[in-house]
Amino acid sequence: MPDKRIGSIAIVGGGTAGWLAASMLARALPGTGINVTVIESPEIGTIGVGEATIPPIIDLLRFLSINEADFVHHTNATYKLGIKFYDWKETGHSYWHPFGTFGAAIHRRPFHHCWHKARAAGLAARLNDFSLCAALADEGKFRFPDNNPDNAASGLRYALHFDASLVSRYLRGYAERLGVKRIERNVVGATLRANGFLDELQCSDQSTVRADLYIDCSGFRGVLIEKVLGTGYLDWTDVLPCDRAVAFPTDSVLPRAPYTRSMARSAGWQWRIPLQHRVGNGYVYSSAHCTEEQALQDLLATTNSKPLAEPRFLRFVTGRRKLFWHRNCVALGLASGFLEPLESTSIHLVTSGLYHLLEHFPDRDFDQANIDSYNGELIEESERIRDFIVLHYWLTQRDDAPLWRYCREMSVPDSLRERMELYKGTGRIRVRSGELFTDLSWFYIFEGMGVRPAHYDPLLDVVPDAKLADILRSLAHATGAIVKDAPYHDSLFTQGSSSTRAG
Ligand SMILES: Cc1cc2nc3c(=O)[nH]c(=O)nc-3n(C[C@H](O)[C@H](O)[C@H](O)COP(=O)(O)OP(=O)(O)OC[C@H]3O[C@@H](n4cnc5c(N)ncnc54)[C@H](O)[C@@H]3O)c2cc1C
Repeated sequence: MPDKRIGSIAIVGGGTAGWLAASMLARALPGTGINVTVIESPEIGTIGVGEATIPPIIDLLRFLSINEADFVHHTNATYKLGIKFYDWKETGHSYWHPFGTFGAAIHRRPFHHCWHKARAAGLAARLNDFSLCAALADEGKFRFPDNNPDNAASGLRYALHFDASLVSRYLRGYAERLGVKRIERNVVGATLRANGFLDELQCSDQSTVRADLYIDCSGFRGVLIEKVLGTGYLDWTDVLPCDRAVAFPTDSVLPRAPYTRSMARSAGWQWRIPLQHRVGNGYVYSSAHCTEEQALQDLLATTNSKPLAEPRFLRFVTGRRKLFWHRNCVALGLASGFLEPLESTSIHLVTSGLYHLLEHFPDRDFDQANIDSYNGELIEESERIRDFIVLHYWLTQRDDAPLWRYCREMSVPDSLRERMELYKGTGRIRVRSGELFTDLSWFYIFEGMGVRPAHYDPLLDVVPDAKLADILRSLAHATGAIVKDAPYHDSLFTQGSSSTRAG
């Protein structure tokens, strides 16, 4: 039997995606003899943004056996308990998409159904009484989840805000220690085999690089997946019209909030991400509704602080590659597509692509059914995330600017419309297994944006209103007690060091 095992992997690109790919592969493939090489261009920089994450980042650190405290320290990270949205429904309004659990199931019905029943029964309930993450964050506090499943704080989840360039550097060190090779080259093209597979990469210094499997992490350029293989791109701008961003850091504002702020503006939205040493600011906007100059002026006016670096102007087309894996090339990160950063999903999608790649790890025959399965799973994942992000725009009640009027009226994918109809009628949210955003995340956006279902779950009729009121009181009490005892988020960071979870 000929040996068909993959012997070498070449990763083009040394941004967050490239070094994440190198780190995860090096961690997952020890002893296989597979050589992993990262090819970084000395001339083309990285995107330099990508500072907010979601809770699977903590699982990733565990997968890599990276000490969380060390990572937090070296990447100037802070903790994130969710996103607070301002002015999305209407100006002056705010709402939470927190992480972690919400209340507790009653009669095996998810708590958001109990929430609807409470409203129908006229019980005055506050969301922060049942979401520990939102309650802590509004107080500027933070704690780690409790290991005891009976403690209400066991359902707490968190993520990180970090400095993207420090993350790439950290992961590079990690991957190189595990034997990943790094070379500096500009990839200018590739030769193809008779079957259309990538054969050799051609570099600007006339050198070539050959591998069995290629991973394209070259950013928006898509040097292999698009420029060489012409895989094609699906444009989602009709439902996610923002296509530009301007970003710059400013001085730290104390205390550092343990959450991302997302503030809707006339032509898009603005992020504010507190790190240990500075604040990341950016304005994601639609070029059909705002010029570069205007976007910069708006961001400068609202940050109210002197930029610590030159503003970065970024252009993107929201959408995805028609195929994430084509022949012997897998695209990850910005090379695979882009969903705007409203829910901090891009870095997660890189990680998810790698977990799926490990589940579908090929041999040199590159079985097509295996590739189709990989593509099917990732297409499903990215389209459900797209729907979730579109929901934030579509539900706006703002009428004060052309962008928002467009979003209210736009035609959305059937998959999203069906979810909305089901929720409006019954309060039910059916998510498929493997979807990144759970029913609870969808609930927070529906609820925050003012969608009220016509009915609550009839199975909750067995719970008398008085009993429901008692349960709500006791849950609110438990939340309040944990918040009272929790430390302030800022107290976790002292000059040059950070304290993190024990054990
Ligand atoms: C405005 C904005 C805000 C964002 N915010 C978030 C966020 O909050 N959270 C989140 O998860 N994600 C966010 N993202 C996405 C995130 O920044 C990226 O997913 C992440 O940084 C990965 O980028 P990358 O490595 O794919 O590409 P890049 O950082 O662009 O890296 C590309 C690499 O490829 C190399 N390269 C390019 N061409 C060649 C060539 N010809 N030869 C050799 N090497 C080459 C470059 O040198 C570079 O090393 C944001 C993106 C944008 C645009």
